[in-house]
Amino acid sequence: MPPRLALAQLPTPLQPLDRLSESLNLGPRLWVKRDDLTGSMLTGNKVRKLEFTLAQALEEGADTIITCGGVQSNHCRATALLCAQLGLRCHLILRGEPAACPDGNLMLDVLAGAHIDFYPAREYQSRLSALLEQARSDYARAGRHAFIIPTGASDGIGVWGYLNAARELAQDFIALNMTPEHIICATGSGGTQAGLTLGNQLYGLGSTVWGVNVCDDEAWFLNKVRADVTDWNSRYQAGYDLQSLDTRVIDGYVGPGYAIAEAPVFHAIALLARTEGLILDPVYTGKAFHGMIEEIRAGRLVGENIVFVHTGGSFGLFPQREQLAGILSHAE
Ligand SMILES: *Cc1c(COP(=O)(O)O)cnc(C)c1O
Repeated sequence: MPPRLALAQLPTPLQPLDRLSESLNLGPRLWVKRDDLTGSMLTGNKVRKLEFTLAQALEEGADTIITCGGVQSNHCRATALLCAQLGLRCHLILRGEPAACPDGNLMLDVLAGAHIDFYPAREYQSRLSALLEQARSDYARAGRHAFIIPTGASDGIGVWGYLNAARELAQDFIALNMTPEHIICATGSGGTQAGLTLGNQLYGLGSTVWGVNVCDDEAWFLNKVRADVTDWNSRYQAGYDLQSLDTRVIDGYVGPGYAIAEAPVFHAIALLARTEGLILDPVYTGKAFHGMIEEIRAGRLVGENIVFVHTGGSFGLFPQREQLAGILSHAE
């Protein structure tokens, strides 16, 4: 086993969504793995990966963490808070505009004392690795040791986070005496899907793991999941046969683009909030949950039990209050 820090509240509960399943007359019984409960301000999937990534950084003697993401990145928020908790300096390279009044995740980044650089989308996309390397060499010249965490902490190290979550699910399924046909998660940088897909196989869950992509397309995620598992395999000399990796993507629910959601996604968020008291976000979990419901209705996801992995993201809802208000004011 690689080095690991105990940072997440684990194990998370696996709970049925019976009022929702009944009200939609869905057929399968829906379950939710509550990874929104991995921590209060740390909520979501990133802290599971960062337990391993930050342990690696400390083992290498890092005193500074550099990472990147969108302006409302959940990964950057979790990293900024964990750096404060561990006494590390945090440097964020964000895609987007600085805000006069920071909101949601960005507000928490600021509160946590992260150093933040903003770049317009085009420059960020074309120069990201150069920007990360530049920051690292600037720190080196100042006598500091900076460790770069890639987007979403999705690489061979981060894979451990959801390998472990799959092991937790194996125990959940034994306790409940069930073998869910499907496990579904939102996928954005691929690491959660990679860990779950690999773990489903290694721990013999007997399910099919699906990532609902919230950006890019199926081909991008097939490639990214393979790359992360390949990195894991070689870093830890795991001897896993990559031929047998069964990556599945539910494409078709990105909508207008990353972090832009249309009315059906906001309606799904409102439905889950009022029937089950669960809060989803418009960037990841709302899109994925909406996609899952549509696929079940279309008869493409069939089974007795289906597990949705709630990967967090609630702070991303607040900066979209205007879209939400516009849609809910037109509701029945
Ligand atoms: C990052 C994120 C995801 C996607 O996870 P990846 O491992 O990056 O694919 C899903 N949901 C939420 C809320 C996230 O913040």
